[in-house]
Amino acid sequence: MLLIQGGRVLRPDFECATADLVVDGDAIADIVAPGTVKDDNARRIDAAGKLLIPGLVNGHNHAQTNLAKGLFDRYNLETYLNAGPWATGRRTVEDHHLAAVIGAAEMVRKGCTAAYDMFVEFPVPSPAGVEAVAKGYADVGMRATIAPMMADRSFYAAIPGLAEALPEPLREQALKIKYAHHEQSLAACRQMIRGLKHGRDAIRPALGPTIPHHCSDEFLAGCRDLAKELDVGMQMHVGETKMQAVVAKRKYGKTMVAHLDSLGLLGPGFCVAHGVWLDDDDRARLADRGASVSHNPGSNMKLGSGMADARRMLDRGVNVAIGTDGAGCSDNLNVFEAMRMASFVSRVADHPPERWLSSREVFLAMSEGGAKALGFGGKIGRIERGYKADLVFLDLGHVHYVPLNDVLNQIVFCEDGTGVHSVMIGGRMVLEAGRFTTIDFARIAAQAESAVERLREANRGARELAEKLEPYVGQYCAGLAAMPYHVHRFCG
Ligand SMILES: [Zn+2]
Repeated sequence: MLLIQGGRVLRPDFECATADLVVDGDAIADIVAPGTVKDDNARRIDAAGKLLIPGLVNGHNHAQTNLAKGLFDRYNLETYLNAGPWATGRRTVEDHHLAAVIGAAEMVRKGCTAAYDMFVEFPVPSPAGVEAVAKGYADVGMRATIAPMMADRSFYAAIPGLAEALPEPLREQALKIKYAHHEQSLAACRQMIRGLKHGRDAIRPALGPTIPHHCSDEFLAGCRDLAKELDVGMQMHVGETKMQAVVAKRKYGKTMVAHLDSLGLLGPGFCVAHGVWLDDDDRARLADRGASVSHNPGSNMKLGSGMADARRMLDRGVNVAIGTDGAGCSDNLNVFEAMRMASFVSRVADHPPERWLSSREVFLAMSEGGAKALGFGGKIGRIERGYKADLVFLDLGHVHYVPLNDVLNQIVFCEDGTGVHSVMIGGRMVLEAGRFTTIDFARIAAQAESAVERLREANRGARELAEKLEPYVGQYCAGLAAMPYHVHRFCG
């Protein structure tokens, strides 16, 4: 038995009082008044001067991009996807593991204890690659839901008219970039899900057909069936940019969400990443099917994608999580910052103040909402008896909390991760007084330096091609995005 003594504990009702936590194995066995437990044999952690909050949950991330952080500035989603082959290409299994460790380390250091990860391998996911990412999370001690990101059409083939708009020989070179046939990807996923060497309390497998029009309907139906058969969740990028919304109307004659619904994909295990370009009918469908949305305001702002209307999602009863997105387009993996931005972007459109997201609402999305989206609902996201002992120890002596006026508002509006003192996941201290107990970060840093040097060289040709394609891609996609597309978003 472990006793965490004398900390101030943020409870699910947002009351915050000094209490002792009794941890048995990986779970919270009890929450009692200070000094109640007299067991002399209990191991004790002194949490005086600390504020204990549930580990935060990152709703959307991409492990492969942790070796690509800081590479991009003025890119939108389409020019960023055009750069994907060089930014994340030619990775070894060791690179996949390294990238996952770096991301997990950053998230834990900043108070995050579980993440949804759409990890990509081109042209087809491999059980070994997914296992390397799972091991990366497990090595740091973090929980994750890992969805291999897949497609059976390349970016250039997926967007109507794009290939035709490219001059030769660029068109031919771009169209040589091909994903595997979807049956191959589904077979790899089946093998991966069955063979994953981690309990589902630690690592949950999922499926990640990336963007609706990058996947054939046969592929999406195959994902639906496999997810049902093996009881796993699914995450997809849906309505991330206006261009995508225009393409969906053209391709399907309806919105992406309506199309996915007609294929039977939406359900409680389904999570939309972004959901910027949704209409009222989309939100109603998602809510009625019990689906989740990961709202990723940092990425949406950096890529200029627009602002998701989380208020209208909550109004309609959609489960909302909050995500950072990957290090290629956010670029830090700071869940406190994501929570703060989610709060702030709800205020810049035309909702009146009483409809802005409150600190309670964003904290719930970043904890319980995320837990549900990841498939860990009822197990993490709360400091409550029976929940996993995933705890972030915030230092109340840090300037963020001096003076302490309102605990919750200060977590959401003042904390930026630098107040994280220690992090416990499943009853195990993985970060203690700012130091990792599970990994040697200096060694990881050295490995990262040599990996990016090798990858820079290996991807030189792909980078040259992407740079030649970029002006055409940027211009064509901007033209498509400028097409009329009416969506009721911020109507108050
Ligand atoms: Zn993403």
